[in-house]
Formats: sequence, C-alpha cells, structure tokens
Amino acid sequence: MPQEHYDVVIVGTGAGGGTMAHALSSSGASILLVERGYSVPQEAENWDPAAVWKQLRYRADERWLNDAGREFHPFMHYVVGGNTKFWGSVLYRLRAEDFTGVEHHDGVSPAWPIDYATLAPWYDRAEALFQVHGQAGADPTEPPRTGFPFPPVRHEPRMQLIVDGLLAQGLHPSYLPLGLIRPGEPGGCVLCNTCNSFPCRIHAKSDAELLCVQPALATPGVTLWEGAHADRLITDATGERVQEVEITRKGRTVRVGASTVVVSCGAVNSAALLLRSANDKHRNGLANSSGQVGRRYMAHLATMLEAFHPFEVNPTVFQKTVAVNDFYFAGNGREYPLGHLQSQGRAHGVVAQTVAPSIPVWAYNAWVARGVDWLALSEDLPREENRVCVEPDGRLRVRYRPNNVVPHAELVAEAVRMLRRLGFWKVVTHSFKVQNTTHQCGTLVFGKDPRTSVLDEFCRSHDIGNLFVVDASFFPSSAAVNPGLTIIAQALRVADHLARHDLQHREQLP
Ligand SMILES: Cc1cc2nc3c(=O)[nH]c(=O)nc-3n(C[C@H](O)[C@H](O)[C@H](O)COP(=O)(O)OP(=O)(O)OC[C@H]3O[C@@H](n4cnc5c(N)ncnc54)[C@H](O)[C@@H]3O)c2cc1C
Repeated sequence: MPQEHYDVVIVGTGAGGGTMAHALSSSGASILLVERGYSVPQEAENWDPAAVWKQLRYRADERWLNDAGREFHPFMHYVVGGNTKFWGSVLYRLRAEDFTGVEHHDGVSPAWPIDYATLAPWYDRAEALFQVHGQAGADPTEPPRTGFPFPPVRHEPRMQLIVDGLLAQGLHPSYLPLGLIRPGEPGGCVLCNTCNSFPCRIHAKSDAELLCVQPALATPGVTLWEGAHADRLITDATGERVQEVEITRKGRTVRVGASTVVVSCGAVNSAALLLRSANDKHRNGLANSSGQVGRRYMAHLATMLEAFHPFEVNPTVFQKTVAVNDFYFAGNGREYPLGHLQSQGRAHGVVAQTVAPSIPVWAYNAWVARGVDWLALSEDLPREENRVCVEPDGRLRVRYRPNNVVPHAELVAEAVRMLRRLGFWKVVTHSFKVQNTTHQCGTLVFGKDPRTSVLDEFCRSHDIGNLFVVDASFFPSSAAVNPGLTIIAQALRVADHLARHDLQHREQLP
C-alpha cells in the first residue's frame, strides 16, 4: 500500500514539469513534485566559468552510452528547474510552417497533430509567464502574432554595428526573444556575460524554478520532494491506469499513490522511465503499444562559431541579442531549409580551453576578447532507429546518428561568409556533435494515430488514461529554433485540459 496519495504526481521540475505545477497549482488539487536533484544554491560559483565549465560543478555526474556503445558525458543538469536553470533563455515560437510537413534535404519533417493557430494563445501565455522580451515585425519567418509582452533587450553598440552590417548585406536580423526578469532595471537582470550555461546568481533569468516551482509551492496542496528519483510507474491489475510511482528518496524506496501522473523528466529520461516500468501487461514498456517509446530522438544539429578580428577588441558584455532567419526556409535559390542563426553569450577563455586544453588560458582570453560568438542550428529529422534504450545492466543508451547534415554544413558556410563580409578575419567553428543533448526532443511523440504515436494531442498516453508526458518528448519534429517556449506553451495547454477533464472529474467524486 502506498504511504501517501496525491491527485497529481509530477515527475521532474524543468520546463515541462515546472510549468505544469504552476498551471495546476490554482486547481485545489493535491500535487506532489518529484525531483531527483536539489535547488542550485546562490553562490559565487554560479558565475565562475572555471567552476561551471572545468569543474562541472552543476553538471549531472552520469555517463550514457552512444550508438557505438561507448560512454559519453551528457550535457544534463538534475536540479530543481531542470535544464532551464542553465539555458540561454532564448524563447522562440516555432514557425507556423514547422507544424506542417516540410520537405528537407534528407526527407520530410512530419506535420504535427495541431497547427500553429491552436498553440498560439498558449504561446502568448507562455511568453507572459516567462517574461519574454522581443519585437515583432522584423523576422521574415515570424508566425502571426501580436506584440511581445516585454520590449526587446537592445543591442549593445558593437552588436548594433553588426546588425547594420547584416542589413547592408540584405539580410533581416531581428531581436532574439529572451526570457529575462527586468533586464537593465534596478534589482533586475544586469545583462552580464554569464547567462547561457550558467545559473543566475541573482535570480534574474526566467527559469522554471523561479517562475513556476517557487510560486506553486506557495500554494496550499503543492509539495516538492527534492533528491527523489522516480524509478518506476506501477499500474493497477488491469494495466490500464498508473496507480503508484516508485521513488528512491533518502536511500529508501517508497511508493506514492496518484490519480494522475505527469512524467516530465526530459526526452531521454522520460522514455527511460516508461521503458523501465515494463510489467506483465506492458512487456515492452509502459504506453508502448505502438512500439514508439524511445524512438524518433532528435537533438538539433548545432555548431558554435567564433568570428575573430585581431585588431579589434569586442567590448560587448551581453551579446545574445541578434537572430538571422534568412536561411530558415527553402526559396531564394535554396531547394531546402538550412536553419537558424543566433548570436551567443560571450565565450570565456576557460570555456574555449575545454576544446583544446594544451593552449594556455591567457591565449584564449586574448582570442575571445576579439571575437563575436554565434550559434547555427539546423533541424534533424525523426528516425525510428535514433532511439533511447535501457541496456540490460540498466544503463541508458542513446542511439543517435545525425541526419540532414548537408544543409547544416551549408548553413555554417553561409554564416562564415556572413561574418567574413562583416570584416572578421577568421571564423572558427566547433560542434559537440552527437554528445550535444541540450535540445533533446522526440522519444514519446504525440499524434492522432495510436499505432504510430505514444501520446494524443494533449500529451495523454494513448494506452493509459491517467498518464501524461509533458516535456520535450512530444515533439514530432525538432524545427530549428530553441525548444523551450514550445514545451512551456504545450504544458500550459495540457494543464488546462487536465484541469478541466481529469481534475473536474475528481471534484465530482463522493
Ligand atoms: C546549457 C543549455 C542551454 C540551453 N539554452 C536554451 C535556450 O536558450 N532556449 C531554449 O528554448 N532551450 C534551451 N536549452 C534547452 C532547454 O533547457 C530544454 O529544452 C528544456 O529545459 C527541456 O525541458 P524538459 O521539461 O523537457 O526537461 P528539463 O528541463 O531537463 O527537466 C527535466 C527534469 O526532470 C528531472 N528528472 C529526470 N529524471 C527524473 C527522475 N527519474 N525522477 C525525478 N526527476 C527526474 C530532472 O532533474 C529535471 O529537473 C538549453 C539547455 C542547456 C543545457
């Protein structure tokens, strides 16, 4: 018998789980948040590049296996707020076309079961909740929308010169949509150079802990268990409902009863949790009658670029304000889409040194001071063979072979040309390739047909009525912009559905 019972148990407190907790907190339901990590302490190391990038102070101490069966260190953070504590907080809507089937170099990126118009009102709410700053109207790929809830973060003078140069090249640079808390205002975000991949020491970056979990915990009925790892979901005898969540906490295994379970562990760990929950009624893993659990893992093709000018020190502190989407779609002589470009947070010498440790850090510092940093992102396509597996010894294996690499190479070449035309002498590129798990998605894809998808359009399992998965797992395609805002918008939409259909029903019970 479980020791405790909750109306809703949410596993994971990142973009998906944190948002769900916030959205459901006003429902009056009893909610347990189960989080394997702990809150990141506010400390000097938050903004110390050596602590973050060399000592890997906040990185999950875990190894996964790759396609070849070799260990790698995934870019994961198991903390309250999940990976949102470390994100760059670039919060994009997908383009309207991303919801439709799009022809790419390596095949068709499949249509979503919902269109952009369905998600648009939830994007509005997501932007308000995560305090997104931006400016509508400049990005040629922008979907139909009203204005942003907050004005854009203005370009620093050197970045404005770059924007002017891009305009002169006939491109259409736009402001990056950014989730920041009162940037530039007293007591708000100080627009520093330790944002992307760092936790915010002054709590001024929009993340799921600050904006969702903490307010939810201030509501009666919401409980957080930190350091609590969900090991398995247990179904009832019919196998049609999840009845309990088995959790390891403080060295003990406990079972918690739940009327509704929301799995929000991130795309890799959510798939793993369902696979590990196999039982007599679900021999291949929970919610897996389609055989699709773990499959269609995607991660984006991502390359970092540093453009260098030997005689010009770049004084920019907060650099990630510019986006270029001119290469996002086919057209203008391109037969297929290439992807998205965005300026990045400033590189730090010690971070660059992790790529080639033999070069001294002072040399890197001199280099990065004269550089400007960009990121190129391209869409990878969902493939059944790109999948998350749990090995017989319990280890996680991510079998991923990138595809659509030709357009990504072309995007990087376009970016190099663009930066050289701006006067930068040299452009250096670097990619973490298959080890880059930061934009992981897919694995529990949503769709209309239970034979080919795991979740319905409200992220409810086709097989198990009281099981939802709300995180990056549901993406049927990865698009080429950052995934966070779409996870949040869909979480808000699912929470509304769940509150009206499942929790409403709870109130009618005797
Ligand atoms: C350095 C970095 C920069 C990024 N920058 C951006 C950006 O600028 N814009 C953007 O949109 N995206 C960005 N991302 C990606 C973004 O952070 C993720 O897409 C997003 O956080 C995924 O949300 P999620 O809910 O799927 O999972 P997460 O946010 O990863 O949350 C999963 C949670 O589940 C917990 N968990 C996992 N397994 C278990 C278990 N078995 N039991 C209990 N708890 C469990 C984890 O500890 C975690 O808290 C970035 C990511 C990184 C790492």
